[in-house]
Amino acid sequence: MTRTCRCPFFVLSSLFLVLVFSAPNLLFAQSVSPAKLSVHWEELTASDFREGIHRSQGTCLLPFGILEKHGPHLPLGTDLLDVRYAALHAAEQEYAVVFPEYYFGQIAEARHEPGTMAYSRNLQLALLQETTDEMARNGCKKVLIVNGHGGNDSLLPYFAQTQLDKPHDYVVYVFDERTPQHGGPVRKTTIDMHAGESETSKMMISRPDTVHQDRAKNEPGADQARQKLPEDVYTGIWWYTRFPNHYSGDGSAATKELGEYQMNWWIDSVVKAIRAVKGDDISLKLQNEFYEKSMHPLDTQP
Ligand SMILES: [Zn+2]
Repeated sequence: MTRTCRCPFFVLSSLFLVLVFSAPNLLFAQSVSPAKLSVHWEELTASDFREGIHRSQGTCLLPFGILEKHGPHLPLGTDLLDVRYAALHAAEQEYAVVFPEYYFGQIAEARHEPGTMAYSRNLQLALLQETTDEMARNGCKKVLIVNGHGGNDSLLPYFAQTQLDKPHDYVVYVFDERTPQHGGPVRKTTIDMHAGESETSKMMISRPDTVHQDRAKNEPGADQARQKLPEDVYTGIWWYTRFPNHYSGDGSAATKELGEYQMNWWIDSVVKAIRAVKGDDISLKLQNEFYEKSMHPLDTQP
């Protein structure tokens, strides 16, 4: 009886003493190595950043957006907001450090519209190079660019190709898919390239407060098809000839259900890309071999 009465008191008081004496150590340990690290580069302390790079195995994401008109009903930052939503959620599932807002890409074709920020081609390449160089200097030996803007489709592979011009101690990877081709709720529209059914649906998930769906029919999003050239002949004015209002499709057809399906697909796809990049130990090795051989090409044997 006595023992059963005193035991809980003894256990409780011992527990109290243990907590009092170990609490500062626990707190200290938590500040050095937190169980939950933010994936946002800008939210990490310097020491947590070091831990983040270690935890991500040197894999960092550079979500790439743009500031460009998106029909009459979506915000200028649609691509930036969407790609960051997908990348940040993916990094939460498969840890990676995510670089802050980046929107310094190719968008010359929207210079006639309000709010477009179109940097010169030299600056686009120079800024991107210095950004990835600086990321790598800080331990991001695998930089995964997650593209959110269709106008970057040529810029980013070109940027990746130019990494071979001189030695770099890191690899640039480009992930450039945003919309699943199959599955999910059936789409009602056939033209759906920009601010249309898919993009409007995704924005209903990432930033529904910025979607003005009631304005989606205020401008036409039809293909004006004004250029009469074979499909395999390319010009820089092609987009303007077809969609001069920076609207391709019909945002009024968008639904939250479609947005949920497409955004989940996008997040899953980025998660898979992060895992593949983390598991890739070939690219840097062969890149180094290539740089070395390129110093003395006459010695290269088949
Ligand atoms: Zn867009």
